[in-house]
Amino acid sequence: MAAGSRPRIMITDFPSRGGTGPKTGTGRSAASGSHGPDTIAHPRAFSRETRPPTCDRPETWRAPVPLKRFGQHFLQDPAINRFLVAAADIAQGDVVLEIGPGTGALTKELLAAGATVLAVEIDRRLADPLREAFAGERLDVLCADALAGKRKLAPAMIEALSATVLQSGRSGFKWVSNLPYNVATPLIVNMLSLQSPRLLRAVVTVQWEVGRRLVANPGERSYGPIGIQVQLRAEAGILRRISAGSFLPRPKVDGAAVILKPKDNLVPFDEEGFAKFLNSLFAHRRKTLKRCMAMIWGDAGMDTLRSMGLDESLRPERLSPSQLIELYKKISSVSATLCALMPPPRRKNISGTD
Ligand code: SAM
Repeated sequence: MAAGSRPRIMITDFPSRGGTGPKTGTGRSAASGSHGPDTIAHPRAFSRETRPPTCDRPETWRAPVPLKRFGQHFLQDPAINRFLVAAADIAQGDVVLEIGPGTGALTKELLAAGATVLAVEIDRRLADPLREAFAGERLDVLCADALAGKRKLAPAMIEALSATVLQSGRSGFKWVSNLPYNVATPLIVNMLSLQSPRLLRAVVTVQWEVGRRLVANPGERSYGPIGIQVQLRAEAGILRRISAGSFLPRPKVDGAAVILKPKDNLVPFDEEGFAKFLNSLFAHRRKTLKRCMAMIWGDAGMDTLRSMGLDESLRPERLSPSQLIELYKKISSVSATLCALMPPPRRKNISGTD
């Protein structure tokens, strides 16, 4: 992909199509998981005034006090939930993964659009009532952490997703979520690496700054390892900005609705090694390629650079994702040991929590 080839920020007005699909439930049983607090009061909770209204079913259920550690900022504007569903272009019977259904406001719109939904919720206080609220509809609720460590999606989630996709006869699934900001980036990177079942399209909300990183072009301030890893695997675009005031409790920053369309011609590569390579290179983003390569990989680095005919006076941040993966493949083929010796990635909070 050439540097600066296209603007990736699209502000698009999608027609709302919520509430169109029939609701013929399959009455499938809900999967069950393990953790999540059972009590409402928690020392690291937001104040009780930030308790979100629940979706309208059941009327008697009161949402628990939101927890910071689970990034619980609930979208209060139904029009935004309908916008996300419309952008995902849901057709009757599409399989949709929703990570973090919370009180079910987005889940409700997905079901109304005709989707078969697998919802994965870490907080049992929310997962259990959600199952009851939508009993008999095309919804499975898995109470689990969607991530199994930083580099892996929860196997139970992938297993349940595979079974749902297989049963539906679809070629893959869509992913629509208002993501918990603190784990949004690892979720996105891991989801785009998933080989099976196939991700067809993702429409998710992230912090505005993270959204900018996902779509940044070479040379831009926000361009870096996360955007490069995402852009290698998918076409990424920002659909719209979502003001912080649309969430309860209000986060410190605005959000972005992001669309990701996975590329289907991607040749598999060592993703962990590439992530380490990017982190090493971007730790010196203001230095020239020549200095970076010599500093990190010595003569082998310089030889690789010359063999590719790249302008040595460029900075790493000027290289496109496809140039960077090519460079990585070359340097790692020269010596696996060299890559193993790369300095550890910088510890930097790229998702940021508030
Ligand atoms: N979808 C709801 C909405 O739009 O109002 C809630 C979104 S809220 C930003 C994020 C949700 O993700 C919360 O319900 C939270 O409990 C859940 N969550 C946080 N971390 C999670 C994880 N690792 N796996 C699954 N769910 C998670």
